[in-house]
Amino acid sequence: MRLKNVNGTSGLKCGCGSWLDHWAKFSGQSIPTYCVESSCYEKQLVGAHVQKDSVSDRNWYIVPLCTKHNLKAESIIVGDHVVLVPANTSETCNKSMYGSLTGLGGLYSLRR
Ligand SMILES: [Zn+2]
Ligand SMILES: [Zn+2]
Repeated sequence: MRLKNVNGTSGLKCGCGSWLDHWAKFSGQSIPTYCVESSCYEKQLVGAHVQKDSVSDRNWYIVPLCTKHNLKAESIIVGDHVVLVPANTSETCNKSMYGSLTGLGGLYSLRR
């Protein structure tokens, strides 16, 4: 799938410590060894803010990208298995306990 990098997000924080930890926590996957960009083998990863290349979905998501891809504003091709975790903390780590449990269930059901 094709993603677009969102710039100017470095000041955004969440309670997970880093956006990479945020991704690991809510994707249900472990942090990959390499950047998820399909032809990239960089190992220095960050949790990057991206958007789907779609007019209907303007939400921001987190995916593990290398620092180089995180700095580029271009579109990025990633494998379809990559889980997009919502960057909106009120949907994820800032939810109440009850909310976060149901939210996780919702996320898991979205996984293919
Ligand atoms: Zn978080
Ligand atoms: Zn990369």
